[in-house]
Amino acid sequence: MRHLIIGGGTAGINAIRTIREEERESSEITLVSAERPYSRMVLPYYLDRSIAESHVFTATAALLARWNVKTHVGRRAASLDTRGSVCTLDDGATIGYDDCLIATGSSAVRAPVPGADGPGVHSFWTLDEARGVIAQVRPGRHVAMIGAGFISFTILNSILALGAKLTIVEIAPRILPRMIDVTGAGIVEAWLQAHGVAIRAGAAVTKIEDAKSRTRLRFKSGPDIVCDVVVMATGIKTNLEWLKGAGVHVNRGVVVDERLRSIVPNVYAAGDVAEGRDLVTGQPTVHAIEPTAQEHGRVAGANMAGRDVTYRGSLLMNIVEVCHLDVASFGAWDDAKAETFTGLRAERPAYRKLLFTGDRLTGAMILGRSSDVWTTNDIGMLKGLVQSGVPLGSWKEYLRKNPFDVKPAFIASKTTAKLLPETVLGRPAKAPGDTPVAV
Ligand SMILES: Cc1cc2nc3c(=O)[nH]c(=O)nc-3n(C[C@H](O)[C@H](O)[C@H](O)COP(=O)(O)OP(=O)(O)OC[C@H]3O[C@@H](n4cnc5c(N)ncnc54)[C@H](O)[C@@H]3O)c2cc1C
Repeated sequence: MRHLIIGGGTAGINAIRTIREEERESSEITLVSAERPYSRMVLPYYLDRSIAESHVFTATAALLARWNVKTHVGRRAASLDTRGSVCTLDDGATIGYDDCLIATGSSAVRAPVPGADGPGVHSFWTLDEARGVIAQVRPGRHVAMIGAGFISFTILNSILALGAKLTIVEIAPRILPRMIDVTGAGIVEAWLQAHGVAIRAGAAVTKIEDAKSRTRLRFKSGPDIVCDVVVMATGIKTNLEWLKGAGVHVNRGVVVDERLRSIVPNVYAAGDVAEGRDLVTGQPTVHAIEPTAQEHGRVAGANMAGRDVTYRGSLLMNIVEVCHLDVASFGAWDDAKAETFTGLRAERPAYRKLLFTGDRLTGAMILGRSSDVWTTNDIGMLKGLVQSGVPLGSWKEYLRKNPFDVKPAFIASKTTAKLLPETVLGRPAKAPGDTPVAV
């Protein structure tokens, strides 16, 4: 059996590892990856030097050799012929396969503003882009971050820890529009301002230009900002261009079934590039988050290894900590049709929103100080309640009256007992060192 894995990010590496764990007979695995395998999610910790660059890598050349994986690292897949089961690389080389996994992830996109490609403007999505930002952010420098979404918020602490001054610019009227609601955004905004972060929401950048070794942002209205570094985090796009004519069904991502298979039976897709099932809504969706990439990779890998594993779907979750304020949302957190309870303690600050469909919690949003133990605990419990979908019966009314007292409902509903036996592959996880390599 010849497996071809295209993309060496979280999804691709999890698939490789799972194939080696699950296969009964030794197979051939080939990895084609434009970049060396690393975790994008840990790049914020590299930015503030909490970890060395060597710690971002997930599978070294030595490990891949030990797993008996042939590698084409630094090469891109340029096209896929699914009829002939052949992938052509950007250097013209061709690789035949019996089955293949598309795991090419996504890339940062910049707002279509004149000057967005200028020398002082950076994205923060790849390791290379992270290196570019690391070289520029220093104590006393003024960083302007364009885009107040999840990715900006993952690097916010690091920029402040490096002693830089930070301004966040957002075209929407408020920050984190795709992660929290208006009330939550107001609280986070005030919290950040109290921690010295300037925020300009509802501000449309019209031009980015050089200003004597600094950079000037011009706006549709309001004063210019002159800064030293611009980080543009205005969204991402799935890396699908190379699949033109491949015959797989592409919507927002490569559409996959519950086995992570595309409409071409020997072609799978996983991670940011795949449009799979949402756990809560059951609808096809792209979740560009690490847990989905991991689970997709595991399920695709198990099926490629010959097991029959179905996937229940992925839970949308965003968790971020900014200046010691935890902010999280899970599942259908902005479902207008859900029955919604909120709780606000402005003085802490602490805020939550619980969204019910019938007596099940189908979405949740929570924010509070990281130092409040109950915030951290409740983040885990709310995630568990949404993930398990347990019926809460009369505990629903209890939560309506006591949105800050989640624990009794969590315990009474036996959510832990429901979640504990659940595993992605229907078996306990193996410790990393235990991965059997069938060679
Ligand atoms: C700064 C940052 C912080 C993040 N923080 C979080 C977080 O806290 N929580 C969370 O859940 N998620 C987070 N994410 C998102 C998470 O990293 C992604 O969802 C995850 O990396 C997706 O994994 P993937 O394997 O699908 O794709 P990727 O990790 O993007 O890997 C894709 C791989 O494919 C390669 N590739 C692309 N095109 C080709 C081609 N044509 N041929 C060959 N190879 C190709 C790429 O080089 C790469 O190696 C963060 C992302 C960033 C950038």
